[in-house]
Amino acid sequence: MIATIYNESDNSMSNKPIVLADRASKTNISGIRKVFDLAAKLESPINLSIGQPDFDVPEPVKNAAIEGIKNGANSYTPTQGRADLIAGISNSLGNKYQQGEIIITSAVSGGLNLAFLSLLNPGDEILIPDPYFVMYKQLALMLGAKPVYYDTYPEFKLPVDKISSLITDKTRAIVIGSPSNPTGITYSADSLKELAGILDKHGIVAISDEIYEIFSYDHPAVSIADYYREKTVLLKGFSKSHAMTGWRLGYAAGPKEILQTMAKFQQFTFVCAPSIAQVAGLTAMETDMSEFVTQYKQKRDRIYNGLVEIGYEVVKPDGAFYIFPKTPWGTGDEFVAKCIENNLLVIPGNVFSEKNTHFRISYAAENKTIDDGLEVLATLFKEK
Ligand code: PLP
Repeated sequence: MIATIYNESDNSMSNKPIVLADRASKTNISGIRKVFDLAAKLESPINLSIGQPDFDVPEPVKNAAIEGIKNGANSYTPTQGRADLIAGISNSLGNKYQQGEIIITSAVSGGLNLAFLSLLNPGDEILIPDPYFVMYKQLALMLGAKPVYYDTYPEFKLPVDKISSLITDKTRAIVIGSPSNPTGITYSADSLKELAGILDKHGIVAISDEIYEIFSYDHPAVSIADYYREKTVLLKGFSKSHAMTGWRLGYAAGPKEILQTMAKFQQFTFVCAPSIAQVAGLTAMETDMSEFVTQYKQKRDRIYNGLVEIGYEVVKPDGAFYIFPKTPWGTGDEFVAKCIENNLLVIPGNVFSEKNTHFRISYAAENKTIDDGLEVLATLFKEK
């Protein structure tokens, strides 16, 4: 029967072109991947490009996962996630979220996908910070929504007035990333409070990406949810805090109406977050990571002081593990090409921005790597 549909000796069918969805041409290969491709050609690069911690998953978390496998945590979990992990998360959020207001997601990326799917129609506008984490823009485009950028240059603070002037009757949501990738800046309580008042007037939903919350060096990170609980989707995860990037574990909390819609979309996309990671997530929540945060604060000081000493124009980050200096000469692309020629891997600013004036350094690396990177950056600065 199959032969009548596809005859191996008849090649005529293979001439028909594959037609991809329109959204395929709107999505570009991540600029970070391009840097990784270049990196693959270098023998032992000074790698300050990677967006994940340089420490390993804590032993108790690994053991919990192994035990989980042995004890049968290998099946689908409920769509919204394991009840015991949800209870642990609820507790960590001060029991402010009720039944049905928390779901476990396939890391923060999963949460972002579900939140965007739940909130955006084609043609809707979503406010996105510039610079941004790459996925915000691409997800909006994939759904046919329009990313409207709020420019945070040069200080990378939350530009409340600017945001206010960008709101139209098509604005459905705003993404807030604090601490930010790529700038490392966290937003102040006052600015978040003021923004909450403006969003409330227009009924705009806040999607608050707090994946770097634990890496807050000078003061505890503040969430817009503290001022706008009723219309904020909170997204958090274990990828960065516990170096569990490959385990794909995160969670979302927020108003029931949105969270239940996200759960519905989870059912038909991700199905559930990985069962083994969910078991280990409970142990991760009980594991103290403060030693690493202290180390990363020292690394922040090391890279910031080093850059300032050389003469780079740079804003001191107070969170995450990135710093986003201005290039001393040339565009982000031109300067980073020169860095790569000199064996240093960093990321050009236009990967994260509509501008091309800065570059991102990830200091989630050994101190020696940071120092080697600074040495190259000092040499290239002189070529100004
Ligand atoms: N949000 C931000 C700001 C990020 O930097 C990342 C990863 O780099 C993510 C979300 C996605 O992380 P994950 O899906 O591993 O939780």
